[in-house]
Amino acid sequence: MFGYILKKIINKFGRENLCKILTLPFAPHIALRGAICYFNIIYFVKKQEGTVMKDENCGYCQGGELLAKFGIKICDLDVSQLILFKEQSKPGRCIVAYKDHVSEIVNISEEERNRFFADVTRAAKAIHAAFAPDKLNYGAYGDTGCHLHMHLVPKYRGQDEWGGVFQMNPDKKYLSESEYEEMIEKIKKVL
Ligand SMILES: [Zn+2]
Repeated sequence: MFGYILKKIINKFGRENLCKILTLPFAPHIALRGAICYFNIIYFVKKQEGTVMKDENCGYCQGGELLAKFGIKICDLDVSQLILFKEQSKPGRCIVAYKDHVSEIVNISEEERNRFFADVTRAAKAIHAAFAPDKLNYGAYGDTGCHLHMHLVPKYRGQDEWGGVFQMNPDKKYLSESEYEEMIEKIKKVL
């Protein structure tokens, strides 16, 4: 098939003329190759943008049951969401999770980073106002769940893990649905 078409083209233009066309810098086949290359790059970039942002196994991306395993969404902030951590051995413990599925603080622009830390600060002020901890601890781990987020863990003098590093999940204290709701309302009031 290709040979037949080639033969037709050669017959139409003549072998010599065809050779001249193909050696021109802007010969149609070069332009076509360039165009394909360009659209491939655009497609690749778009695909990357679409796939990097969300992960189907991530509780922060998907919400629902995946999030319910460890947290309850309180509300959206500017570039993140505020989540109440279900394990409440340190009353008021929350998570601020960035809106997109990016692993590292160095993966987002300076502007986005500033907005993310403004969200963390806003959440921290609310926790101070609502629960008056003696110290608020901050932790950003995510070895296995690679979605940029920060744990905000209120610590109380003489109480659980005071003076030490807080555990990822001490698994000591869970509340009833109404108690969680009460806690969320308390935070929302001062947010
Ligand atoms: Zn995610």
